[in-house]
Amino acid sequence: MSNLKSKKISISNFCKLIPKIELHAHLNGSLNEDILKQLGCDETSISEYQKLTEILNKTSRNLDECFHLFPIAHNATKTKEKLYMATKSVIKDFKKDNTIYLELRTTPRSEEDMSKEEYIETVVKCINDCKSKYKILVKLILSINRRQDDNNAEESLKIIIKMKEKYPDIIKGIDLSGDPKVGTFNENLFEKARIAGLKTSIHCAEVKNNEEVKKILDFGPDRLGHAVCLHPAYEGSQENWDLYLQKKIPIECCLTSNVICGTVERYEEHHIQELINLRLPFSICTDDKGVFRTNSSKEYEHVMKHFKISPTDLYQFNYNSVEQSFASDEEKKRLIHVLNKVLYLFLGDIFSMVQIKDYCDEPVDEQLYRDLNLAPMWREFY
Ligand SMILES: [Zn+2]
Repeated sequence: MSNLKSKKISISNFCKLIPKIELHAHLNGSLNEDILKQLGCDETSISEYQKLTEILNKTSRNLDECFHLFPIAHNATKTKEKLYMATKSVIKDFKKDNTIYLELRTTPRSEEDMSKEEYIETVVKCINDCKSKYKILVKLILSINRRQDDNNAEESLKIIIKMKEKYPDIIKGIDLSGDPKVGTFNENLFEKARIAGLKTSIHCAEVKNNEEVKKILDFGPDRLGHAVCLHPAYEGSQENWDLYLQKKIPIECCLTSNVICGTVERYEEHHIQELINLRLPFSICTDDKGVFRTNSSKEYEHVMKHFKISPTDLYQFNYNSVEQSFASDEEKKRLIHVLNKVLYLFLGDIFSMVQIKDYCDEPVDEQLYRDLNLAPMWREFY
């Protein structure tokens, strides 16, 4: 490949090309418009999704505008068949985007024809069925929604623990998610989950709530989702930030989600900058790729472009994400092996081809990108 060194590929194509790790993706929020149509969603609901691109251009946005979209996807997955189809489509989308490891999360719901237990069984079955077919390692995090009352959350936890014992290779963790303005973090519930062997990932500080953030940090989950209002420069308290620095809990950063929901004004102002500067642990995630019309490649690209990250550093973030994942030690070794092989066999030359300084002036070689489609090759290492 030495004669290729003068050639250029765009940051966007580089991000598509490399194997990626996804640690924060909600199943229902990840559904794309095509699958929503197949699941019987009407045009009006789907066009609501499209309005989000307009929201991006508005001067003031708020979380409520985003949260009213989630029921659309929930209504589309009310039967086992539809839930199975939906799960499969999301796994396929991530695989197409060269994701090699995916942690999906979802809140078990009971519907007319489906209990919470059956909901989980359906998603697990789909993950197992996709395993050999798509060559992507998928794990499941089960969520407690902030809207659930104590009894409902306790009932969910019992079922989650039971299902975790039945499918220990797939069900890895528990999450607290949903509208951050509703409900609160119940440390007793999550302590029970931890004792039962579940990893914990908690949506934290999406909006300013220093009291709750302190409770979450004291509990010390394995990972934090978002953590927008944690650093004092982003409305967090110095006390919480100091506590965070002692614990250094990995943060799942979802840039587009935060910008569209208006919790972060612009990509350049995202708190990932502080984490990069201080070498604190984080991963780059999509959150709800369907609702926010994004994917892992686009999120990696935003990080590279807005924070001037080199291809080598971006690739290093991948290794860090593997470490932060809820995969087993053996699986982590396998993922590192894939990343190493791709790095040593292919990426050395490609790193130097990535056009960093100016994304538009020099023409990039699109044909070269197509020629460099490495995925079929690196899937061999899997
Ligand atoms: Zn989330």
